Amino acid sequence: MTHTDKPSEIILIKNGELALKGLNRHTFEEALLRNLRHRLRHAGNFSLRKAQSTIYIEPQDAYADMDEACDCVSRVFGIAAFSRACVTEKDLTAIQQAAVSYLGARLRTASTFKVEAKRADKQFPLGSPEISREVGGYVLEHFPHLRVDVHNPDLLIMVEIRDFGAYVHAQQLPGAGGMPVGTGGRAAILISGGIDSPVAAYMMAKRGIQLTAIHFASPPYTSERAEQKVISLLERVGRYAGHMTMHIVPFTHIQEEIRRACPEEFFTLIMRRFMMRLAQRIAKEQDCGALITGESVGQVASQTIPALAVTDVLAEMPVFRPLIGMDKEEIVSIARRIDTFTLSIQPYEDCCTVFTPRHPCTRPKLYKIEAVEAALDVDGLIEEAMAGIRIREI
Ligand code: ATP
Ligand code: MG
Repeated sequence: MTHTDKPSEIILIKNGELALKGLNRHTFEEALLRNLRHRLRHAGNFSLRKAQSTIYIEPQDAYADMDEACDCVSRVFGIAAFSRACVTEKDLTAIQQAAVSYLGARLRTASTFKVEAKRADKQFPLGSPEISREVGGYVLEHFPHLRVDVHNPDLLIMVEIRDFGAYVHAQQLPGAGGMPVGTGGRAAILISGGIDSPVAAYMMAKRGIQLTAIHFASPPYTSERAEQKVISLLERVGRYAGHMTMHIVPFTHIQEEIRRACPEEFFTLIMRRFMMRLAQRIAKEQDCGALITGESVGQVASQTIPALAVTDVLAEMPVFRPLIGMDKEEIVSIARRIDTFTLSIQPYEDCCTVFTPRHPCTRPKLYKIEAVEAALDVDGLIEEAMAGIRIREI
């Protein structure tokens, strides 16, 4: 099929479908347009324009990939639903023919249908009910097996007559929901190679938060491939969350020092306190107002209330734990949906699993932890780790 044989298509995103709660509409729309532009670069040359509270996404040449573009759009937060539509002239015959040819494959397999017309351009000679009737009649002539069902049709044919043209499309496609990334400020996600933290990242990005990623690596106890796994996970999350800067923090010396100087039952808790201190330093430098972790109450020994409390006392900014009340199955189902699960279960070591105590303390007392930490050069270790950070753009 040559380019000219393809129907001319467009993606329509209506503002009525944006979640505008409590936010300045203009800021919201600008952020959404910016994010869409950025994401669609991979799909080819598209033009984006906003008119009459609709965003129009139009392919500019034969190489612009509509399937890829719809895929991208479906992962951009701030869109509840969108339509992939066929563009036709504002002429009844053209619209009728477009409905039959563009939706032909689906009309063949459907048993019932309904036409819904919207006439935004009042110059168009027919009103919405007449358009629906004329298009419906034409469809029935071409597909006599069909019946009209106005309540629960297998296929809904939407006809829209707007200023720039007429559009024919089927039911809207589901969008990613949420708020455009960037409208909720910035926060730093502590990302491991596990199942939970990529899901936590996705959930907060969905609320419009622009992410900065922090990963603690303990080479040679953790491998290059373990780090690569985290990068791949962030790339998957980035299909929703957009661009991220990843900070890879050297954690080996800190962990070796903890092992050398602290009782084994406190290893994980003291390690987590170091993570908190370092993450907070990076977050402040990167203009982030909060930290995000993938913790969930009771999941492991370091996620009991008293264990969370001994890391939280160090926090000088909010710590978001979007998974705190979720079961593993619920987390896994999101991980599958956003396509991080299969990567997450690849068996690479994480710094958390390198020096796991045999009997971790689940009810720590802060004064005991502080006393134990006094044996360490906390400030010196923090400075050393900060100086060794590597940056990677995702
Ligand atoms: P995950 O599945 O995200 O690894 P988990 O259930 O294995 O979580 P922990 O290993 O105790 O739990 O880690 C709890 C949280 O601490 C993680 O969700 C993540 O936010 C953070 N974290 C753990 N390891 C690292 C690491 N190496 N680098 C950065 N953050 C980490
Ligand atoms: Mg983990």
